[in-house]
Amino acid sequence: MDLETMTRTALAGQSITPEQALEVLQCPDEEVLGLVAAAGRVRRHFFGNRVKLNYLVNLKSGICAEDCGYCSQRLGANSGILKYTWLKDEKVHEVVEAGLASGVKRVCMVASGTGPSNRETDKVAGMIEGIKQAHPEVEVCACLGFVTEEQAKKLRAAGADAYNHNVNTAESHYEDICTTHTYADRTDNIETVKGAGLSPCSGLIAGMGESSEQLVEAIFALREMGVDSVPVNFLLPFDGTPLEGQRTLQPLECLRILAMVRLVHPDTEVRAAAGREQHLRSLQSVSLEVVNSIFLGDYLTSEGQSGQDDLRMIADAGFVIEGQEPEPSKGLDHAQVPIRRRGAGTELAPNV
Ligand code: SF4
Repeated sequence: MDLETMTRTALAGQSITPEQALEVLQCPDEEVLGLVAAAGRVRRHFFGNRVKLNYLVNLKSGICAEDCGYCSQRLGANSGILKYTWLKDEKVHEVVEAGLASGVKRVCMVASGTGPSNRETDKVAGMIEGIKQAHPEVEVCACLGFVTEEQAKKLRAAGADAYNHNVNTAESHYEDICTTHTYADRTDNIETVKGAGLSPCSGLIAGMGESSEQLVEAIFALREMGVDSVPVNFLLPFDGTPLEGQRTLQPLECLRILAMVRLVHPDTEVRAAAGREQHLRSLQSVSLEVVNSIFLGDYLTSEGQSGQDDLRMIADAGFVIEGQEPEPSKGLDHAQVPIRRRGAGTELAPNV
């Protein structure tokens, strides 16, 4: 693996080749931190030490007619998640304000389902207008499934900046994870939102039984589509879904995948998304050397690390939140780290 050549290519804003991307995914364990350092040079060249915070607002949960195999909200899933129809405007306002108070740059308004009705689009457009009036500097991304041209234009006119619809996996793997719509349906939808002037956000879920070649296929397809941001999710195998119990990813594998995405999309926002905590585990903060964006706090139907812990992780690793004044590094704030005392009678127990 010629990391130096790959890094030079990426620093020039160009993608490495599919063959090189495969080599990255096959990087031996003992070379992964070197790979991260190379991807980190690229990340820092284009994004410095900034981390963009994104915040999910789950407007409607569960009750979907599609059968995406990874999804806890799919048709007939017995995943025990919270199900509700549209959140009330006041609740949306409350949730959004909480996120903004923590420094989030982008609010992602998400609703489960195949796609919104015109009435539902109007409802979301109204929410977006409200957010943009109060906080013009905040980016708003909508994620409502399949939309028509008119609906996409309505969201754009209301102030939405971006639209997310993940391709999730390679075209050659798509039929294995979903039968109610096709890969082309998703890519067509991305073209529709692009046509309406929305910034396209689309990414992956790794760990769904795809091969390394298929991961490479998917990430090059996203480059071809010209997406502006690439969320990389790691499968959370919810009970009650066809992928229940499928845990194939290890922390170093996740770092290889993120590094590969960075070297194919050098100057694009790359986000460590759902599954970050469970799959990167103690290497979460190392991933910040590769990605320039994360979700703050919880995900749609699963809990993330607390927002406080996310903020501490960013500061401890020497990164700053995008959109906030960089502060000189203060080091670890010991005053805020609670000392957990061991209970009486345990003092002589081995310190494991
Ligand atoms: S990913 Fe979206 S479309 Fe697919 S089942 Fe889940 S909510 Fe429905």
